[in-house]
Amino acid sequence: MLEKYAVEVRLNTTASAETLADFDEVVMATGVQPRELNLPGHDHDKVLSYAEAIESPERVGRKVAVIGAGGIGFDVSELLAHQGHPALDIAEWCDEWGVDLAVGERGGLKAPTPPAVPRDIVMLQRKTSKPGKYLGKTTGWVHRASLKQRGVKTLTGCEYLKIDDEGLHIRRDGVEQVLAVDSIIVCAGQESVRDLLAPLERAGTAVHIIGGADEASELDAKRAIEQGTRLAASL
Ligand SMILES: Cc1cc2nc3c(=O)[nH]c(=O)nc-3n(C[C@H](O)[C@H](O)[C@H](O)COP(=O)(O)OP(=O)(O)OC[C@H]3O[C@@H](n4cnc5c(N)ncnc54)[C@H](O)[C@@H]3O)c2cc1C
Repeated sequence: MLEKYAVEVRLNTTASAETLADFDEVVMATGVQPRELNLPGHDHDKVLSYAEAIESPERVGRKVAVIGAGGIGFDVSELLAHQGHPALDIAEWCDEWGVDLAVGERGGLKAPTPPAVPRDIVMLQRKTSKPGKYLGKTTGWVHRASLKQRGVKTLTGCEYLKIDDEGLHIRRDGVEQVLAVDSIIVCAGQESVRDLLAPLERAGTAVHIIGGADEASELDAKRAIEQGTRLAASL
């Protein structure tokens, strides 16, 4: 499609107000950046954003606290709780989920084999509601089951106090405790990336904001694609 319509693609290029100066219309689809924690020790070596943990899981230690039990908290916990790629190995996947391809028993089921788990993970959330409220209706159970199989614990109703060499200090039900973890992964939401908006508007350029750059609170690829498609049709 891009070739057909002679769209010029410049990869590995950061757009700036200067490089966009000659365009009449600019579509800002610059996405989001992870929100940082606002508590003492937020810049401790133990702390990584979800983007850093996904890009460099080798930087994450063995004992891990994941702050935030939304969709990204679940995805990050799953990534860190997996060793290798069991979904790419049919025998391993069948062992984990108790599927007997030889159909030795009625229903083709067998006792599941607990998977190898490279890390101890605890997922925390501030609210007391059920973690993973926004997981997909038809797929949420898979994520919950997968994390349960891997011994990932969840703690709700957490107040985050500070981070230091001892770990993550929290308060739950009025009681303070320290989670002695090696790494703390922040999955506590995101903020729209809109650095270019003000300079472009000052220069009089028409700017259209879509996707995560428009609305960071609910990350929904379908909404971003729909916005982009409708905008393209209207320009
Ligand atoms: C871990 C994770 C799991 C997710 N799971 C789901 C899911 O299961 N279902 C779902 O619907 N959504 C999911 N999402 C959300 C989905 O990824 C986003 O809704 C979607 O990517 C938003 O698209 P976008 O185009 O707005 O931004 P993005 O896809 O983030 O793209 C923005 C791009 O702009 C680039 N950029 C920023 N600034 C500049 C600049 N100045 N110059 C040039 N390039 C720039 C960025 O590098 C990036 O490549 C998930 C997100 C994360 C992080």
